Amino acid sequence: MSKLHILHADMDAFFSAVEQRENPELQKKPVIVGGVSLSNRGVVSTASYEARKFGVHSAMPIAKAKKLCPAGIYLPARHGLYKKVSGEIFAILKKYTPLVEKLSIDEAFLDVKGCERLYGDSIEIAEKIKAEVKQKTDLTISIGVSINKFLAKLASDYDKPDGLTVIRKKDIKEFMRNLDIDKIWGVGDVFAAKLAEKKIYKASDIWPYSLEELKKSYGKAGVKLFFLSRGIDNRDVKSQNEIKSVSHEETFAENISDRDKLFAYLFKMSEKVSFRLHSNSIKGATIFIKVRYSDFSTYSRQQSLKVAVNSSEEIYQRAKNLLIQNNLLDKPLRLLGIGVSNLCLEGQEQLNLFAEANEDQLDQTIDELKRKYGFNKISRARKLYLNND
Ligand SMILES: [Mg+2]
Repeated sequence: MSKLHILHADMDAFFSAVEQRENPELQKKPVIVGGVSLSNRGVVSTASYEARKFGVHSAMPIAKAKKLCPAGIYLPARHGLYKKVSGEIFAILKKYTPLVEKLSIDEAFLDVKGCERLYGDSIEIAEKIKAEVKQKTDLTISIGVSINKFLAKLASDYDKPDGLTVIRKKDIKEFMRNLDIDKIWGVGDVFAAKLAEKKIYKASDIWPYSLEELKKSYGKAGVKLFFLSRGIDNRDVKSQNEIKSVSHEETFAENISDRDKLFAYLFKMSEKVSFRLHSNSIKGATIFIKVRYSDFSTYSRQQSLKVAVNSSEEIYQRAKNLLIQNNLLDKPLRLLGIGVSNLCLEGQEQLNLFAEANEDQLDQTIDELKRKYGFNKISRARKLYLNND
């Protein structure tokens, strides 16, 4: 399929833009929205474009931001307000197609295939969405239009703020040629450093390598790189109600029997699952785990809850109990997996009288940071155990 039917829509400097809208005195000024508190130990959630000129960016420690931009206006994040505005924006997006995949509070993929008769082609739809968001919320959104998710996301980022960029099939090669390798999905700092050893800095530096060579050197990540560096990506846009379960599993380089180490992995995976549930505003009422031993025998167990959950702590505790109660840790593990199914939208779960509000709030803050930072840099204390070995 080479039709331009995928859109990636992303609000511009969302939190600080909302603050600037709420208080006209903040317009055209460097506004920096911090995490829960604005202590010098916190990090920047969003910097307005005016603040970015000073070198301030997301995930930067507040203390550093204050050095770079002492005259900046520093505000604590108001998540309730941003969530409300986000609801208004998603209501607009969902008018144009039922296929909206929420990536975060201010970002989504849309598949507009089949919606053209109602609203015009994908570029016209993007123009209409931009105009409607501006009119109804007084905020700007950047949209990328292309033939797949990967290219649409690159396109939305290309001309921020208030951008509308189209990458057609004939433009792909030129667009990819000079793209920095770390803009490719799955290429983080560590992988980028490995690639730099081979003088691979741009997407086009991948082109001379065969699929087999990349697979041999980098495994699955190499295969992904082969296709993405050519702008090939065939993942579908998935709306919330198409997601049946959210899970994560890891195969270890060496079998692990140390329980503390396994629990640390389990916690890290619970955070990933929780992050994806939060991103889609969903919760799950069934927790499941999967283990595989060195002889490849594989077992899974599940537990259903009265009330759906999505906090990492709850998912972790249930999964840990499943492992212990079923004596699944008596032999070294080759693989460990965790997941949540039986999903429902947030707000549609039964009221949980015993839920701890703090847990949810903490997860929300961590989610915000992860969106900006990527998974590997932010985690709660338990994960440090993994980083130290
Ligand atoms: Mg954004």
